[in-house]
Amino acid sequence: MPSSHKITMRPAPGVELLEVDFTFGSSFPQPRGRTFREGYGFDIELPAVLDLLTAVDDGVLDARYVKNLLLRAVDHMYEPAGCFRHEDDEDKLAWCRRDGTCRICDRHKDAFAASLTLAAERWRRWTLPEQYPYATGNTKGLHEVGCSVVYRAMPETFSPPSAEDAEALRSYAHRKMGYRFYDRPLADLVPLNYHVQFHAMTAEETRAWMNDNTGPKGGRHYRRCERCAPAP
Ligand SMILES: [Zn+2]
Ligand SMILES: [Zn+2]
Repeated sequence: MPSSHKITMRPAPGVELLEVDFTFGSSFPQPRGRTFREGYGFDIELPAVLDLLTAVDDGVLDARYVKNLLLRAVDHMYEPAGCFRHEDDEDKLAWCRRDGTCRICDRHKDAFAASLTLAAERWRRWTLPEQYPYATGNTKGLHEVGCSVVYRAMPETFSPPSAEDAEALRSYAHRKMGYRFYDRPLADLVPLNYHVQFHAMTAEETRAWMNDNTGPKGGRHYRRCERCAPAP
């Protein structure tokens, strides 16, 4: 969706261009491709261009100055025009590595930490099968923890990254947006293997969970595994 912007320019005493019309997102001329920061995707109304050229022609403004003036206007519009959203995912990743972090990582930081906390708690429970003898997964199946369905889905070891690990956070955050062409993921993100699929529960927790997942008329919103037939 193209956006419109009005910028007043006062490049020199006596030269004032009120409310110059810019747009972002209506034309992307292929022969002059470049970055958004260099003006790609931006348009400016012709009368303003002519007035600037007149000022150059009259010797009031210098061409280089006008060029910088226009680039400063682009800088000014970059955020309000939402340019970052349209930037290339590979570029965003490269800038994040260069700068140490980025707004995408910032936005996912809490969710990443929460996912680590959840995984650690699930792993802890998994290592205490006598205390936590039942388990449920994402598809709301209920099992005994010893069930082969659960075993097959659980990791053999657990070595999660630290919540402070910038590269792991980067993988978590950028992976979510890194699908540009069909299912091609972003190259060279470290794999994250800390996901623990099943949540083990005490017998009491399991009964409460079954209750929560039973409708008012007794309909079950969960599935009791036929193989292990859990009976908490
Ligand atoms: Zn980032
Ligand atoms: Zn089972």
